[in-house]
Amino acid sequence: MPQNETQELAALSEGIAGLLRRRRGLGLRRTAAIPDAPPPATVNRPEKAPYAPPAAIETPLTPAPAPAPTKQAGYTPPTAAPAKVTAAASQTPAAPAAHSGAAPAASLAPDVSGYRSLEELAQGASACRACGLARTRNHVFVGYGSGTSGVLFIDEMPGAPADAGGSPFEGPSGELLGNIVTKGMGLPVDAVQLISLVKCQPRAGTPPEPSELSTCRGWLDRQLELLAPKVIVTLGRPAAAAILGMDEPLGRLRGKVHTASGRQVVATFHPEYLVRSPQYKKQAWEDIQLAMGVANVSLPTRK
Ligand code: SF4
Repeated sequence: MPQNETQELAALSEGIAGLLRRRRGLGLRRTAAIPDAPPPATVNRPEKAPYAPPAAIETPLTPAPAPAPTKQAGYTPPTAAPAKVTAAASQTPAAPAAHSGAAPAASLAPDVSGYRSLEELAQGASACRACGLARTRNHVFVGYGSGTSGVLFIDEMPGAPADAGGSPFEGPSGELLGNIVTKGMGLPVDAVQLISLVKCQPRAGTPPEPSELSTCRGWLDRQLELLAPKVIVTLGRPAAAAILGMDEPLGRLRGKVHTASGRQVVATFHPEYLVRSPQYKKQAWEDIQLAMGVANVSLPTRK
């Protein structure tokens, strides 16, 4: 082999060896260590609360207590003894009440404590001018009937026939009440009594004001003491609210016997309402029979 070739081969061999060393060196070079990934942080999950059954929803087994009876505006609860209040009415000699334009006395509850009989009370009430209704009335309607049955009806106010001095059993609603007494209860109308919360009729179509109800209350309470009925039947919601002292819908008051101020009371519909809504006559008749039971009035024998 010529010298040049030998040298070339040697150089080539040396180059290859160098290349191999470099490659080997590359292979030995440590790569930058990839830092180990930190262990995953422990996720602190809140401990699951132990299962607890939901608190039982208490369903009241008994109805919520009824709200305290609301006093009807102007309602004055009866007192054991009527308050001694001086009023001209009770001292005025009995005289038939006639419509007069004279101004009534200031609203001052009449002194009724001195009346010892229904006759005296009727005379005193007939002359009463203690409230503004003295200006609107034509006649004072103190009451009707002997009450031998022990059944007393209470209306809110006198109707037009009574205000005109006639029988309260006139007119559509009066006739209906008369039929309830005579045909339903089998009694003459005189065997029951009919009175009203106020003794004087307000202006047509308007109910009595609370102050008028309150002023006239003394007459009513004394009347009830003297009449001492076995059972009171209130006609319509205002009468029921005043006698029971409960401002409730009539639907909740009727159909049962209440005790109010020691008296047995049954609330029912007003005859005027029954004239307009005859579908409630059946319920009204049920109420009347309840009252008859309290007063020991037997149903008439039907032929
Ligand atoms: S409504 Fe009663 S208080 Fe008023 S004037 Fe007539 S009787 Fe007297």
